[in-house]
Amino acid sequence: ARAPIETDALIIGAGPVGLFQAFQLGLLEISCHIVDTLPHAGGQCAELYGNKPLYDIPGTPATTGQGLVDALLAQVAPFRPTMHLGEQVATLAREPDGRWRLGTDRGSEFIAKTVFIAAGVGAFVPRRVTVEGIDAFEGSKLFYHPADLGRFAGQSVVVQGGDDAALDTALALVGQAAHVTLLHRRDGFQADPARVAALRAHVADGTLGFVVGQPSGFDGDELEVTLPDTRIVSRPIDALIACLGISPRLGPIAEWGLELERKQVPVDTEKFETRAPGVFAVGDINTYPGKRKLIVCGFHEATLAAWGAAAIVFPGKAIPLQYTTTSTRLHRLLGVA
Ligand code: FAD
Repeated sequence: ARAPIETDALIIGAGPVGLFQAFQLGLLEISCHIVDTLPHAGGQCAELYGNKPLYDIPGTPATTGQGLVDALLAQVAPFRPTMHLGEQVATLAREPDGRWRLGTDRGSEFIAKTVFIAAGVGAFVPRRVTVEGIDAFEGSKLFYHPADLGRFAGQSVVVQGGDDAALDTALALVGQAAHVTLLHRRDGFQADPARVAALRAHVADGTLGFVVGQPSGFDGDELEVTLPDTRIVSRPIDALIACLGISPRLGPIAEWGLELERKQVPVDTEKFETRAPGVFAVGDINTYPGKRKLIVCGFHEATLAAWGAAAIVFPGKAIPLQYTTTSTRLHRLLGVA
């Protein structure tokens, strides 16, 4: 096993608030690691409204979700937080010395003096196929939103889903895979009309199969599909690619003994610390009297939580408030000296 990574701070979630948390910690000379289940930073801004404009970021009359994420990444860059993307924090437990041990589903381990839960509305994970016993084939015959389609070359594959991601995947496999069939519960798509037209054209010329139905059984070779008229058909396949959407799940956080209130973590409003000492919660995941799930509120919470952490990371040290405008120390940290 790899040795655990020791760090002053670990941030769970690379959404807008997690990214700004890393920036505020950087100003206080606290280095950090950030973990997110998604393969990229940005949380809801990147995943749910990357191309849509938002108008209530202070000093920024208009930007898109992705534009905000890019700006936050550029702002935090001088502090070089270490990102661990594509990993879900699964466990959180207190060490005898008061630090926190965290483990991910990929086997990474961290020992952190302070923890920042910036988990938003939960970890963004693919929606699962609900067929009994199918989990056993994940990674060998069952794939969720695979980034690399090269491995399906020459194979007989079924792509399940009806949104842009599902259609893109099916269309990309035409000519690469031996046979491609799109499987969707209805003959209608929540997708870009141009993609739907391309799909229909391939179905018409026979280069892409289309079946309306739901998978109801899979033994690793034969996929059983239940049709709308309840008839069951089955066919041998090499792989099932499920593109059923990515949705947030609170997931393991519910198991960390943090006394959740309606799936949110109660915090104080002085340091945004949970009832577990050294564990802070910022952004959409926390709750306190007057809480509003807005990015600007998360930015304020992250600022005060960083000061709360400084008292733990540098015990007994008086830390003066300095302005980024005038402090030569901060200029040096920011690399603008
Ligand atoms: P999130 O953005 O949810 O990010 C949390 C991250 O944590 C996710 O990437 C998730 O994968 C990760 N995560 C969770 N659990 C784990 C785990 N166990 N391990 C690893 N990673 C984990 N707000 C505004 O202020 N102005 C707006 O105009 C606005 N418009 C919006 C429009 C839409 C359509 C939506 C859905 C929201 C909008 N919001 C807006 C709300 C705003 O997006 C949220 O307040 C903000 O994203 C919260 O940021 P966050 O960093 O707390 O959480």
